[in-house]
Amino acid sequence: GPRKRPLRKPEWLKISLSANDHFARTKDIVDKHCLHTICSSGRCPNMGECWSRGTATFMIAGDICTRACRFCNTNTGKPLPLDPNEPANVARSIELMKLKHAVITSVDRDDLPDYGANHWANTIRQIKATCPNTTIEVLIPDFRGRTDLIDLIIAAKPDIISHNMETVRRLTPSVRHVATYDCSLHVLAHIAAAGVTTKTGIMLGLGETEQEVCELMDDVLSVGVSVITIGQYLQPSRRNLPVEEYIRPEQFERLRLIGLEKGFRHIESAPLVRSSYHAERHL
Ligand code: SF4
Ligand code: SF4
Repeated sequence: GPRKRPLRKPEWLKISLSANDHFARTKDIVDKHCLHTICSSGRCPNMGECWSRGTATFMIAGDICTRACRFCNTNTGKPLPLDPNEPANVARSIELMKLKHAVITSVDRDDLPDYGANHWANTIRQIKATCPNTTIEVLIPDFRGRTDLIDLIIAAKPDIISHNMETVRRLTPSVRHVATYDCSLHVLAHIAAAGVTTKTGIMLGLGETEQEVCELMDDVLSVGVSVITIGQYLQPSRRNLPVEEYIRPEQFERLRLIGLEKGFRHIESAPLVRSSYHAERHL
């Protein structure tokens, strides 16, 4: 079809960084030790707020992904070997930043026999050993639905395990790469069945309808998910999927109330919500 002009960003997405002393101290530590967080490398608009409250997100297993989801700006290709020092380095960063709540995520490592699951488990264990008072949330890939690998993560005992559905069933094939809607549901079901707090996240603005979002809520609730985050998709670069629609803040609030009514224990639903936003409240 004809190439559409990108939509103009509405007012409610233009925000200024709010920050306090804690943020400034954290930023000094990050700069001094050259620590790597998703918050700063992804220039997340919530950085002031999250760091002020002692939450940050780290990406492990490298920065080259074996998949190429159309909403994601991560480089795709053949990843480098895993860094055996990474679990200790991430733990040390969390300790230096004095985080109350650490969120860990990774690229997908379909190139490795265990898809990176043992490296994940080592990282969780190392953080727990180094920072026993920091709560840990892991935003995991689907490990191709391999429950034996997901069990390695569960056995390492993070406080929250999260796996993102990203979008509604109909749009999944055109938005995600390799991952399927049903495989992600299966992953979530397996985590929830183990009794761990189970969380998922989706983006709006890709062309989904409210009805479809409600169906997704029903699907994840039925497998035991208790926390969901809903935010606006923002096109990270011109190579990524365009934004179909900027969803109004009132609609995010409407979905929050619908979700609470349906039975989620906790929902974050607002334009700038990211999967790790207000994560410490989901414990
Ligand atoms: Fe970091 Fe996530 Fe907060 Fe953004 S929302 S600043 S990535 S912890
Ligand atoms: Fe990005 Fe994750 Fe998709 Fe890789 S699997 S392209 S990191 S969203």
